[in-house]
Amino acid sequence: MTKLINGLHHITALAGDPQKNLDFYTGILGLKLVKKTINFDAPDTYHFYYADDSGSPGTILTFFPFKGIQPGKNGKGQLTQTSFSIPENSVGYWLERLKKYQVKHQQPQNRFEETYISLEDPDGLGIELIATAQDRRPGFTYGHIPLENSVKGFHSVSLCEEGYEKTAGILTNLLDHHLVAESGNRFRYGVEGNDLQYVDIICMPDTQRGLSGSGTVHHMAFSTDNDQTQLEIRKKVESAGLNISPVLDRDYFHSIYFREPGGVLFEVATIPPGFAVDESTDHLGEELKLPSWVEIHREDIVKGLTPVSLNLKNYE
Ligand code: ZN
Repeated sequence: MTKLINGLHHITALAGDPQKNLDFYTGILGLKLVKKTINFDAPDTYHFYYADDSGSPGTILTFFPFKGIQPGKNGKGQLTQTSFSIPENSVGYWLERLKKYQVKHQQPQNRFEETYISLEDPDGLGIELIATAQDRRPGFTYGHIPLENSVKGFHSVSLCEEGYEKTAGILTNLLDHHLVAESGNRFRYGVEGNDLQYVDIICMPDTQRGLSGSGTVHHMAFSTDNDQTQLEIRKKVESAGLNISPVLDRDYFHSIYFREPGGVLFEVATIPPGFAVDESTDHLGEELKLPSWVEIHREDIVKGLTPVSLNLKNYE
């Protein structure tokens, strides 16, 4: 049977102040802003996409920064850790960098024989940097971070759940995943042919349910080849009795959404058309991009947005 899912596509989270968000992900973590657009459902809010230099699936973290939004609370039914891979010998570099810019973080720990640093973004979103030799992607540089230390893309995500069985069933029966490792209350799932981009389910029955707000993840998206494979997945999910959205055009990919039984919102997004659909790869993220149907209101939309700027020079 052909595989319909390749791994992760993107993760979308909620943030507060847009400038702080931009400074943290581009300046401190060294991700590239590959698209600056608006929330299609709330045009007075930005939608920032951070990724590698071409916006490859499996590297894309996106944010809706809402001014004045209530802080959320991490807990059950949420994706609580977004983990990026870093080169094996770069833990020291990152510890120094996080200290230099006063990023809240913990001392290195080990999981499945890899060292990782747990940290928080300005809104308290859980991020991990995992040092691994498994990531064969070439990496990229952005800002002032040398290639030998730079973040390469997603290593894994952690879902905090009541139990693992139901969510595991969705991953294995509908989304081409299989169990690759387990330790204590952590169950790790992956897709054949992809060395990373794992989905870890952590069973935490005694934890409170999470609350949506700034510093929490809104949804996670898996990657599929094209519209055809997406329709096949849609049919499978529907036949399993889950409520699934129609195919929605998100300009840079096409999306379907459904909530897994543990509470996390899952999306399946197509690889095409990608971020070069409305600006060239060399200039990704430089201009505010608007969907064609609101382009005529550009002036008003710009007036409603807080001006932001890239401040890479402040983060050497
Ligand atoms: Zn999405």
